[in-house]
Amino acid sequence: MSSYNIPKMQKKLKKELDEERFIHTEGVMYTAAALAMCHDEDIERACVAGLLHDCAKCFSNTQKIRLSESYRIPISSIERDAPHLLHAKLGACIARDKYGVEDSEILSAISCHTTGKPDMTLLEKIIFVADYIEPRRAKAPNLARIRHLAFSDLDLAVYMTLRDTIAYLKEKKAPLDNQSLIAYNYYKNFIGETED
Ligand code: FE
Ligand code: FE
Repeated sequence: MSSYNIPKMQKKLKKELDEERFIHTEGVMYTAAALAMCHDEDIERACVAGLLHDCAKCFSNTQKIRLSESYRIPISSIERDAPHLLHAKLGACIARDKYGVEDSEILSAISCHTTGKPDMTLLEKIIFVADYIEPRRAKAPNLARIRHLAFSDLDLAVYMTLRDTIAYLKEKKAPLDNQSLIAYNYYKNFIGETED
């Protein structure tokens, strides 16, 4: 049973996001769909989660803080200084309230797409990796390898995405959410550190 009106969601999102973000969003949706086909996840759920993962990205910083407060999302000091980090958790609330998504797995995939988390579900891993490898993404190191691994060894792809994202943020001296480090350590252990 198909319960989502994806074209309607796309129309609404197009108004909420800037053009670049909308194109990224569609890339993540189709990449998530392909990964769902490969790993036996439900394609429609992957599409909905991919489509909505950045639905709160284009609010202003002030709006991100204000809306997060109104949804009673706990705001850490790192998030208060870098409100863009809130778009994942806030996005899950917006997906629920403004796009009518009730599936808790879709909502949690949206909620953890920026930082990852330990022991992710298949759908969470798919969205986390799809966000990193979608076709328009061009500059990350190891992108070709991670794109390949996403279809052959998803856990290793998750690990490498976490590792490279953290290295990139550290190099740029950009704010790093502690959740990313927790997720990184979990997957480092999980894959048995056979790779680096
Ligand atoms: Fe995002
Ligand atoms: Fe994204």
